[in-house]
Amino acid sequence: MRAIIVPAENNIWNNFHTHTFRCNHAEGDIQDFAIRASKLGMNKIGFSEHAYLPGDENPFHLSFAAVSEYTEACREADEKYGNVKVFCGVECDYDPSDEGFFKEFYLDQMGMDYIVGSVHELKGGHDVMDCFSNRHFGLKELQIYTKLYVKLIESRLFTFCAHPDLFGRPIEIGENPAGWDANAESAAKEIIEAAKANNAVLEMNVSGVWKAVTKGYPAIIYPRREFWEIASDYDIPVILNTDAHSLERLDAHVDYGMKLIEEFGLRRVEIQR
Ligand SMILES: [Zn+2]
Ligand SMILES: [Zn+2]
Repeated sequence: MRAIIVPAENNIWNNFHTHTFRCNHAEGDIQDFAIRASKLGMNKIGFSEHAYLPGDENPFHLSFAAVSEYTEACREADEKYGNVKVFCGVECDYDPSDEGFFKEFYLDQMGMDYIVGSVHELKGGHDVMDCFSNRHFGLKELQIYTKLYVKLIESRLFTFCAHPDLFGRPIEIGENPAGWDANAESAAKEIIEAAKANNAVLEMNVSGVWKAVTKGYPAIIYPRREFWEIASDYDIPVILNTDAHSLERLDAHVDYGMKLIEEFGLRRVEIQR
């Protein structure tokens, strides 16, 4: 059954962005995460494995064959651990031409609780631009990103829209990672205004803090303070997630996100079945 969005309880934080070993770049399985969630005082955990897409050969996505087993494993864990509700979802690399597949396969056929929309890469001609890479993210890329992200929001398909501020690296890491200019500002406004107009939930994803700390980046690229400061003017609902790729990362740097949410008076929400 498709999950709904509800206000988050003040003293409880739950993670709805969790990956497992099935995407080949994360560690841990559903039951282990559920046990860890319970130990951390969480009462829900949501899995958002990287979605398989038609014709998909990306080794970092679920394989088609793994989708049923993954869904089943979420359901089993949900029944087994009464004090932690387990939600099953997928993180979809958004492309307008895949909207029908996302809805019909994951929501209707597999009966997942939620689907997450993401932009991880930009396709232009034969070039694929990885939004996480150190390569220059210039004005042209920023505009492609913004347009695609606004379309993702306007599809109204996704329970939440992941790391909208991933573009916050207009300048190469190492040169001036703190770079935020008028173009970044207007991209942020465009995305936030689309979210407002479409009642979308935006995700504050603190895995950028984890990356900055573990990889020694000189600055945190996301969550981007400037972005969330603008969001605070629009009363946008925000879901705070760690994008955990291992058991240790399940609650890593949540305090950082909580502080930003408090500072800007953002409205925190979560998922309910
Ligand atoms: Zn992502
Ligand atoms: Zn993710």
